[in-house]
Amino acid sequence: MLDIINLLPDSVANQIAAGEVVDRPASAVKELLENAIDAKATTIRLIVKDAGRTLIQVVDNGVGMSDNDARMCFERHATSKIHQANDLYSIHTMGFRGEALASIAAVAQVELRTRMSDSELGCRVIIEGSDVKSQEPCSCDCGTSIAVKNLFFNLPARRTFLKKDSIELSHIEETFRRITLVYPQVAFVFHHNEKLLYNLPAGTIAQRIVNLMGAQYRGLLCPVEQESEVVNVSGFVCKPEFARRSKNEQYLFVNGRYIKHPYLSAAVERAYSELIPERMHPAFFLHLSVDPQRIDVNIHPTKTEVRFADESTIFAILRAATKRALGQFSITTELEFNPSPDLDFTPAPQGYVPKPPTVHYNPNYNPFQSQPHSQPSSSTTARTSTDNYRSPWENFFDMPNSADSTSPQNDSEEATYVESSVNTPSQDGQQSIDTWATSEAADDQPAAFTQVNNQYIVTAIQSGLLVVDQQRATERIGYERLMHQLSQKGAATAQQLLFPENCSFSPADAELLGQLQPQLESMGFCLSPMGKSTFVITATPPNITPSELHPLLENILSDYKNSMMTKFSNRDQMLCQSMARQMSTKTGKVLQAAEMQTIVANLLSCQVPGISPSGHKTMIVLTPANLKEMLR
Ligand code: ADP
Ligand code: MG
Repeated sequence: MLDIINLLPDSVANQIAAGEVVDRPASAVKELLENAIDAKATTIRLIVKDAGRTLIQVVDNGVGMSDNDARMCFERHATSKIHQANDLYSIHTMGFRGEALASIAAVAQVELRTRMSDSELGCRVIIEGSDVKSQEPCSCDCGTSIAVKNLFFNLPARRTFLKKDSIELSHIEETFRRITLVYPQVAFVFHHNEKLLYNLPAGTIAQRIVNLMGAQYRGLLCPVEQESEVVNVSGFVCKPEFARRSKNEQYLFVNGRYIKHPYLSAAVERAYSELIPERMHPAFFLHLSVDPQRIDVNIHPTKTEVRFADESTIFAILRAATKRALGQFSITTELEFNPSPDLDFTPAPQGYVPKPPTVHYNPNYNPFQSQPHSQPSSSTTARTSTDNYRSPWENFFDMPNSADSTSPQNDSEEATYVESSVNTPSQDGQQSIDTWATSEAADDQPAAFTQVNNQYIVTAIQSGLLVVDQQRATERIGYERLMHQLSQKGAATAQQLLFPENCSFSPADAELLGQLQPQLESMGFCLSPMGKSTFVITATPPNITPSELHPLLENILSDYKNSMMTKFSNRDQMLCQSMARQMSTKTGKVLQAAEMQTIVANLLSCQVPGISPSGHKTMIVLTPANLKEMLR
């Protein structure tokens, strides 16, 4: 019988192992950065060309290697980090399989230069496809530089599997973020094709987040700090207005390693329920430290999954710690908006069928004719029929399917009384709460609205005194309506301009405006480019005067640019926030009773009524108990 079993030569075994460890340039970047950190470097430079296809180089000022180690480090299972299998369970350093460099050297042309601080000369090793081409003394800085050239040069099939540069580069950037977020005390620099992408000086975690993710994060980070026997939690969660459609900005680390853990991420998300709309996700940067014996280390270096022995306890701690952090930064209002036992509102009696909110409006109202604003304003004349009026703001944000809150009614004297049954979306979708005082007299007595300081709308509700910030409230209402319009695509109402407006921008801005065109059109703008940097605007959402148009677009562009710099990736959200802010009813504007009640009713039917899109409280309720306390 013929023996048919052979031992694979090392070079082939290494190539096979390499397939697991190095599947794309980003994974080589990860291994090299982790080695530099393990070598106690305080400054690490990453130099990449062609998204890692041509060159990935990491230069560190760490401890360096001896001549022998410089050769040994490319052997499989060569590691200075573990000595026995048991060490795997208490390991705190990054790499621990002694396989990374061997794998990388199997599939690339590698040049290593390294010097320890106590030797005068360093050592240079060149290795290609596991073949050592040369090893010689060299003069170099203290520390280590490893240059990985032409990744997969000997595996043409693997090379063709690489995605286009922009994708590979974004994987590298993500890898870079996951590592640099853990080591704020280490300075990092990242060059791509000679361009400086990131320059991260050593500093605090908060500084690192801002330097890495963008200045937008400044002022939006709430510190989380929680120690317990099972887990220590530290880091930052972002204020609710930073909520995103994607979960891309959720960073969870365990013992210095980035992990993906949907269950624990959900714990953090849970703490935000009611603060951010459905399908939006908070951003966070949280570090857990757990006894290494209490986690199931997945020793595969490219995996990000980890199992915890005390998962449900950690879940509870994480959620509570996040809630506390948000609460300390007074983001959670005293008022919760989902029916819950501690809700301030008195629930509707059993069997009570709430009437839809009724607000009258004047179908003949034309914002360009005489302004009803000139009528004397009084908080107690809400019943007069002249109040059948919708503010320009209301018209602007009108949505076809908001009809139930603004639908025309017969001319009845009680027209302006809002019997708003706020149908707060709740888990069971059934419960509704009667917000307004539904006393006996309710049917023939209008709710009274008062404006204080031309800034706050005050009205009595059953549970106390509701105080609403008019500007923040209208920002919230506008934001949700615009987001809705964008999701409906083309549902917006538009006003045709009598004379088309020409707006000119810098060529760069014109280019950006072009990118926003589809969204702007969904909002009711009609614009077409004319020449290189001018747009002709033939229609706008209602109630934008021609003179406001240019500044409005300029402001949107500047918000857009800021958002791009800071990786605020959700363009729709950014646009809606920008528009809503600009179209809001500003502090200082005198409001009619009818306007006030419309604002309050619309606010209360928002998905997230309590917080403005920029994260500030929109309203508070002063309960009799609060008042008593104040009047003591
Ligand atoms: P591991 O990191 O799992 O030990 P690697 O293949 O990544 O395996 O590295 C092998 C060894 O080479 C490391 O244990 C370390 O001793 C040495 N080494 C690698 N990179 C560096 C570096 N940048 N500075 C100093 N030593 C290094
Ligand atoms: Mg390593």
